Amino acid sequence: MTPWPKALGLRARLTLWYGGVVLAVLLLFGTLSYGVLRWTLLSDVDSTLLVVAQVVRDTGYPRAPSPADPEARLRALLGPDFFDRFLRLLDPEGETEPGLPPIGSRPLPLSEEARGNARRGLPTFETVQAELGEPVRLLTMPVMRSGRLVNLVQVGIPLRRTREALDRYLRTLLALIPLGLGLATAGGALVARRALSPVGGMSRTARRITAEDLAERIPVRGAGDELDHLAETLNAMLVRLEAAFVHVRRFAADAAHELRTPLTALRGELEVGLRADRSPDAYRRVLQSVLESVERLVRLAEDLLVLSRASAGALARSGPVDVEALALGALDAGAGLAQGRGVTVRLGAAEPAAVWGDAMALERALLNLVDNAVRYTPAGGKVEISARATDGAVEIAVQDSGPGIAPADAERVFEPFVRLEAARATETEGTGLGLAIARSIVAAHGGTLTVESTPGAGSRFTIRLPRS
Ligand code: ADP
Repeated sequence: MTPWPKALGLRARLTLWYGGVVLAVLLLFGTLSYGVLRWTLLSDVDSTLLVVAQVVRDTGYPRAPSPADPEARLRALLGPDFFDRFLRLLDPEGETEPGLPPIGSRPLPLSEEARGNARRGLPTFETVQAELGEPVRLLTMPVMRSGRLVNLVQVGIPLRRTREALDRYLRTLLALIPLGLGLATAGGALVARRALSPVGGMSRTARRITAEDLAERIPVRGAGDELDHLAETLNAMLVRLEAAFVHVRRFAADAAHELRTPLTALRGELEVGLRADRSPDAYRRVLQSVLESVERLVRLAEDLLVLSRASAGALARSGPVDVEALALGALDAGAGLAQGRGVTVRLGAAEPAAVWGDAMALERALLNLVDNAVRYTPAGGKVEISARATDGAVEIAVQDSGPGIAPADAERVFEPFVRLEAARATETEGTGLGLAIARSIVAAHGGTLTVESTPGAGSRFTIRLPRS
């Protein structure tokens, strides 16, 4: 199919399609009605022929006994013109019988087929060209006596009138079809224009909407039709886009803020160091402090990079990941972190199961949870890592006996740069990105990361992943 020219709008295309369909319907109906009319008219002619032929046969002409003069009676019945031109009586061989009244002064053709049918006692209807090429409908009917063919009666009716009637009908059709097509196309154009008029308004509104102004919405007319549905779908998309933009802006502002704090501290330390000549020891202390700030900055930059990669949803490597090994690795790392803090890290249930994904990324997500649990749990507390397989899913949980998280903060802690007051007071290390990174990684694997917590009694972070 040739593609539509680009310039042809939807309205023009709808109108053209509509016009095309209407033309096809009109042509179909025109052809059908012409055919039916032709057939009806010819059937009428054939029945008339049959009646006349039967009358001729049944009057006993030409052998009927006198005094009733059958020829005169027939002539009177059929009219002299018809009688002379379109009626013939032949012997079984198709010859005008000698001695019979000379009816049918101008010969009608007798085809081989008609002759053959007559021999079998069957009538034959044909359309033939008579004198001057005039089309004539012709019936050749056998006259049988005691099962023997004694005569042939030929009756014809000129088709001039029928042809004229058909021609008139055809001319009327040819005049009406373009008229109907024109009216239908104009109507179609009107309907298409009305139906599509809201689209113009929608695209004008959509053009006004920019990244800076996502608050505007496409008007919904309330007709409950497809266009309203489209407007609602686009509006829902705008709501999501707006939320995403707000999120990105806040993230950028938060990131800048988080970067500024250590940079300001760094500048302060350097300024203090440069203010006066100092002993090598004092310089070392300054440099040590500067190094700590730089390390914090590097950590933050790395975390930001990991978060942006995880948020993009792309997994670096994919393959089967053994959950039991993951839990054991986290146990080792947790035990290392807990050293000197008086926190016990242990392994609970560890069922063998596999998930599909990026082993290193999952390790990082789990490690972030263990790291938090160890850091926020006071001395004497416990951290338990467990992995179990359920129907179609694998759950890896990190349970601690730490301070817990208030229900109001339970969702907030997964947002980037959110650090609760208690954490800020006790732990200066955190960047506030650990849980956001963990959740992004788990989400990229098609899983969920949730927290259940009782303030004062500890928290339980659970990673749920689909089983491979
Ligand atoms: P951070 O670098 O501050 O640890 P996270 O994103 O890992 O950042 O955690 C966000 C905040 O959630 C923490 O600052 C802390 O307030 C809270 N939080 C995380 N894990 C725990 C936990 N196991 N117990 C109590 N609070 C926690």
